[in-house]
Formats: sequence, C-alpha cells, structure tokens
Amino acid sequence: NAKARGRNCVQLFDPSAPHIGDEAENIAAILRVAIERDQVSMVYQPIKSLATGKIEAVEALMRLKMPDGTLISPALFIPVAESSGAIHELGRWAIRTACQEALIGQKMPVVSINISAIQLQAPGFSMSVAKILGELGVAANRIAFEITEGLDIEDHDEVLKCINELQQLGIRIWLDDFGTGFAGLSWLRLVKFDMVKIDRSFLHDSVLAEGADMLKDIIALIRNRGHTMIVEGVETEWQMDLMRRYRVDQVQGFYVGRPVPAKRHRKATVKGAVRVNFRYGMPPA
Ligand code: C2E
Ligand code: MG
Ligand code: MG
Ligand code: MG
Repeated sequence: NAKARGRNCVQLFDPSAPHIGDEAENIAAILRVAIERDQVSMVYQPIKSLATGKIEAVEALMRLKMPDGTLISPALFIPVAESSGAIHELGRWAIRTACQEALIGQKMPVVSINISAIQLQAPGFSMSVAKILGELGVAANRIAFEITEGLDIEDHDEVLKCINELQQLGIRIWLDDFGTGFAGLSWLRLVKFDMVKIDRSFLHDSVLAEGADMLKDIIALIRNRGHTMIVEGVETEWQMDLMRRYRVDQVQGFYVGRPVPAKRHRKATVKGAVRVNFRYGMPPA
C-alpha cells in the first residue's frame, strides 16, 4: 500500500490508474483556496495515560472537505500539499487552529500537531511558530510536534537544528510512527524526544503471539532509553488489557476515542458498545 512505500506523493498516486494526474492537480488547486473557504478543518483524538486514567493530550488531525462534501484523508492530500508548497501555509493554519480550538480556554494540557519534514527545513520555521504562540498567548510547553520517523530528509543538519530551536522554545518533540521503517533507531540517537509513538501496525500484529513479543521488545527499548511512549491504534478491550500488562505509558486509538471536532469532545462516542463522556483533562466516565 501507499503508506508502506512512504509519504512521497509520486509513490502515493498509482501512475497506472486513469486520471490520476488530474486528481493530484485537483487536490493541489483545492488546497490553495481551501483555508479561506473553511474546507479545511481539524479533528482531535484523545491520548490517555494508563497511570492516571486521564486524557493528557489530543492529537490534531487535518480533514479536507471537497466541494461535493466528501472528506479526503490527509494521507492523500498532505503529500500533494508538500510537493505544491501549500504545506507552509496549511501548516501555520494547523498550529494556529489547534491552539485556538484545543487549548485556549480549555483544560487540555497538550495538543500534538503533525509537522512535515518540509516545514522543518523551511528557514525561520521556529521563529514563525514562536510568533504564532506569542500572538495567541499559548505556552510553548502545551504544544507537541509529531515528526514521523519515515520522513525524507534532504538536509539532515537543517532539520536537527530546527528541532533543537523548537525544543529551546519549550515545544515538545514527539517521534511518530516508530517502527515503520529503518530510520527510527537513528532518530533516537540524534534527538532527545519527549515522547515516542509506536506505530499501530505492531498492535495489529499482536493478535499473533510473535507480534506481541515484538511489541514488548519495542516498549522495553524505548523505556530503557528513558523515553515515554504512546501506543497508537488501540481498538479493543483485549488490546487495552495488553497495554496495561506491558505498562505502556499512554494509549491512543478508537477504543479510547475517535478523532472528532473540538466542539464534540464533551460527548464523544467510542466505537463498539463503549460510550464515554469526557471533558478536557478529565478521565472518561
Ligand atoms: P498519524 O499522525 O500516525 O495519525 C494517526 C492516524 O491513525 C490518523 O489517521 C487516525 O485517524 C488513525 N487512527 C487513530 N486511531 C486509530 C485506530 O484505533 N485504528 C485505526 N485503524 N486508525 C486509527 P488520519 O487522520 O487519516 O491521518 C493520517 C496521517 O496524515 C497522520 O498519521 C499524519 O501523518 C498525517 N496528518 C494528519 N494531519 C496532519 C497535519 O495537520 N499535518 C501533517 N503534516 N500531517 C498530517
Ligand atoms: Mg501523528
Ligand atoms: Mg502516528
Ligand atoms: Mg501512524
């Protein structure tokens, strides 16, 4: 599948499929005007601490509404935004919106925002973030930037310099999708991450005994290196029990809560028979 092959949009679009070039151009054109027309929005997914039972953070996930009302996955349009350059404006919009919707006037301790490698390589990125936070009056330690382990880095030094500047500002830096590629261990050596998010593929595999062993080893590795971890993609009670047995720090997934618009966070419905009501900073009932 496309994700397994990476986030490059050239790979994402199957060249053998008909009209696929039109599709990419179409998305790029829509992105250019989408922000002003309110076609881009954010949904928020809770991240729960197993130690305290509280929602410690929400991850902001972008959604794009096409003119006909259908929603396009960020896995499809983010690569187009990256290759068309729209990611810079879209990225600033994402940070501003996530702060406004999830933090200002809310008890939520932290909102995490996905950041693309292209943003990290843009000159003055950390300055532009500091400016947004200053304008909104949001403390830097209430935002986390998720950086995917699979990112293509043209300029390694620039990215590390930028990460360092962001950490100096007090912004948390999280490693996303850990274990999906070969770069994860290198990243752990290069950056002092505030959190490591273990990719949900390991949880999926853990229905098999071997997969569960692998997950256990990864958790031990991350813990031994002094990092706090989130396991992504917890969908069932069985998986939740496994996470408790493995003493995972925090969990995220449909079992805890689906991504929903900020307004709906007070009455979030969770997949299956489980229905939870939670307020920011409060444990699910
Ligand atoms: P990610 O950062 O790894 O986000 C987690 C993805 O897994 C989200 O998909 C989320 O909806 C989904 N998910 C969460 N819990 C479960 C579960 O229990 N089961 C299953 N099957 N899936 C679950 P989504 O929202 O489609 O986002 C896909 C990717 O797009 C994200 O992966 C992230 O890399 C990227 N992305 C999303 N928003 C942004 C953004 O604002 N900026 C950038 N640069 N990238 C973004
Ligand atoms: Mg993420
Ligand atoms: Mg992730
Ligand atoms: Mg992932």
